[in-house]
Amino acid sequence: MDRSVQSRTLFSRASVGIAILVATAVLVGCGDTVEPGDGGGPEAVDGSIEVSEEQVLAVHQRLLTIDTHDDIPFDFATPAADPGVESQMQIDLPKMERGGLDVGFFIVYVGQTERTEANIAKAKADAMIKFDAIHRMTEQYPERIELAHSVADVERISAAGKLVAAIGIENGYVIGRDLGLLERYHELGARYITLAHGGHNDIADSSTPRFDLGDYEAEHDGVSDFGRQVIAEMNRLGIMVDVSHISKQAMLDAAELSEAPVIASHSSVTALAGVPRNVDDEQLDALAANGGVIQIVALDSFVKAVSPEKRRATSELRESMGIDGFAGVRALQGERRDEYEARMAEIDRQWPRATVSDFVDHIDYAVERIGIDHVGISSDFNGGGGVDGWDDASETPNVTAELMRRGYSEEQLAKLWGDNLLRVWRAVEEVSARLKSQS
Ligand SMILES: [Zn+2]
Repeated sequence: MDRSVQSRTLFSRASVGIAILVATAVLVGCGDTVEPGDGGGPEAVDGSIEVSEEQVLAVHQRLLTIDTHDDIPFDFATPAADPGVESQMQIDLPKMERGGLDVGFFIVYVGQTERTEANIAKAKADAMIKFDAIHRMTEQYPERIELAHSVADVERISAAGKLVAAIGIENGYVIGRDLGLLERYHELGARYITLAHGGHNDIADSSTPRFDLGDYEAEHDGVSDFGRQVIAEMNRLGIMVDVSHISKQAMLDAAELSEAPVIASHSSVTALAGVPRNVDDEQLDALAANGGVIQIVALDSFVKAVSPEKRRATSELRESMGIDGFAGVRALQGERRDEYEARMAEIDRQWPRATVSDFVDHIDYAVERIGIDHVGISSDFNGGGGVDGWDDASETPNVTAELMRRGYSEEQLAKLWGDNLLRVWRAVEEVSARLKSQS
């Protein structure tokens, strides 16, 4: 979940087959191809490799594709937001099936609030609503999707021809100061926890302090003493430590403190889009040294920094329609939604959104910096994510197509799309088994 989004088409486009989407994708390449593999095909004038729709789909269908960050609304898996049918959501089961997106980490996101007893109790209750919703989805559609508790589960469920749901918690705030809750959330299926979100919590500093909540620039100068205990308990239980959203120092601390590799579940690189939420070269290096993985996020304003002019035009539009932030946009219905989308499209025409090619530039950059074994892919769908060309789960082959044009081999694609994340998850399971056997 990222609320700082300035521009996107909020709702998924009409259902279109993947074949059409791949066919209409623009042939663009970046030139500086990374370790060209057996991508085949002749090189186009711009240095990119020509790939056919059939080649892309053949490879894409063989890959195990994992998206590590998919938000859900509070009414998820109710008739109002039914993932089993074509919906307004950017990710639902029909879109995953059409787009060949095999695994989604569905997110128990709870926003930061002032740390009072009442608010912490509310955060825990809100987390339970989202756990229940994800479980409800897998209970309602057992033939189509199943919840994975382990890497072995992912492989078993996927081999059975079903979609895979996994669970991540976004914001360690949902444990309050109760370490025991980690075990409870682990039982419910949580396999990663983003230590903090927007605003500091008791575990770690955020990269985006909430001055309105009384935050200073830094509260713990990284990970707090309590946060150290949280990381140790996550290591023991087998929950991946997610360093997206947290401050640079907190991220470096977490990579140092964790006995198992860590992940950045949805972050892009500062070198190409200078927002505090992204990671710089030193952070990339620390992730690689830790054996971890950065799941580059396809979120417009984290892929391509939004100009002040566009930011102003967007907030003026929202103001003129009486819309309160991203939550307000998401709540739009009917004619008001149509009006907002039309006017937003006009703004996007003037200041174009990030494309799949811009997104893959971030992947290239990270691969060049820290190697193919430490990079993965995420969307932040339903949480502000999406770029032109990968704006919902049905368009997933467009990412594979762009990577193939840049010369990534099938083996490299497999690493980016899932193997790297599964390697880290497996390492986390092994550390957990070792720590449990020692205690
Ligand atoms: Zn987020």
